[in-house]
Amino acid sequence: MAPFVETDETIQSEELVAPQAAPWKYEIVYPAVLGMGYIHLAAIYGLYLAVTAAQWYTLVFSAFTAVAAGIGLTAGAHRLWSHRAYKAKPPLQILLMIMQSIAFQYSALTWAKLHRTHHRYSDTDADPHNATRGFFFSHMGYLMVKSHPEFRKRVKLMDFSDLYSNQILMLQHKYTILFCFTFCLLLPTVIPVYLWGESLSVAWHVSMLRYVYNMHTTFLVNSVAHMFGSGTYDKSIKPTQNVFVSLLIFGEGFHNYHHVFPWDYRTAELGNNWLNPTKLFIDFFAWVGWAYDLKTVSDDVISARAERTGDGTNSWGFKTKSS
Ligand SMILES: [Zn+2]
Ligand SMILES: [Zn+2]
Repeated sequence: MAPFVETDETIQSEELVAPQAAPWKYEIVYPAVLGMGYIHLAAIYGLYLAVTAAQWYTLVFSAFTAVAAGIGLTAGAHRLWSHRAYKAKPPLQILLMIMQSIAFQYSALTWAKLHRTHHRYSDTDADPHNATRGFFFSHMGYLMVKSHPEFRKRVKLMDFSDLYSNQILMLQHKYTILFCFTFCLLLPTVIPVYLWGESLSVAWHVSMLRYVYNMHTTFLVNSVAHMFGSGTYDKSIKPTQNVFVSLLIFGEGFHNYHHVFPWDYRTAELGNNWLNPTKLFIDFFAWVGWAYDLKTVSDDVISARAERTGDGTNSWGFKTKSS
């Protein structure tokens, strides 16, 4: 199966290059600013309560839900639905859809649309979180302003028919608020209260802390891993190899590699298993039989590409040859 770049055919060739950070007046979306403000204040209070008042069960449960949400994003919304880097049988898709709902970052369908647009038009005005507009914009600022007209124009030209024909994705998309409210906020608050007698305030605010933690670790890929690190495979693009980001978001910080080979289900080259829990998750379900057609890139192709367009570093950012 071809990678998602096949949708190039749906766009006129002169449309492929979008302008890069042309002057643009931001239109602030105040409800989004208020929402962001509330969840961040609630998360800070949640951190205080986590340290001073929360039961151990609550902390362990929150860590578990944070991992589930993160893997829902990386193995589900990202590697499966955005990039079609492997295929998943319905039980795994349902599990990933629920895990992605815990993260409350749109529906997986919308997430995949935004992400494909990010790859197609990386670091231009059609990229929803264009990193040439600076750290804050690419990290979270773009969520608090009206999207760029160039993005709105070009996203309409792309082919998302595979996403719209997926009934599991459509179910979640149709009832996004219901799914996300239930799995991100309601159950993670109610379960600690009813099962081990946690206070409602602690359960709610620690859930907010987990929600904000998941948001920022995901956002680091769009900000830090588009600014800081090496260009091992293509020095002409902004995405970088960043081990720190990989540690925080389950193996997704080898971002220079990922932008060069987006269809590789590992989103990283060989040898990073311990840094790549998402790969281990997919490998486990391949063993179970629920994940199949895992796509990878051969070592020869990877090293040839590094030799041809890389900056002379290895994936850890260390210089291996003068370039
Ligand atoms: Zn990127
Ligand atoms: Zn990607």
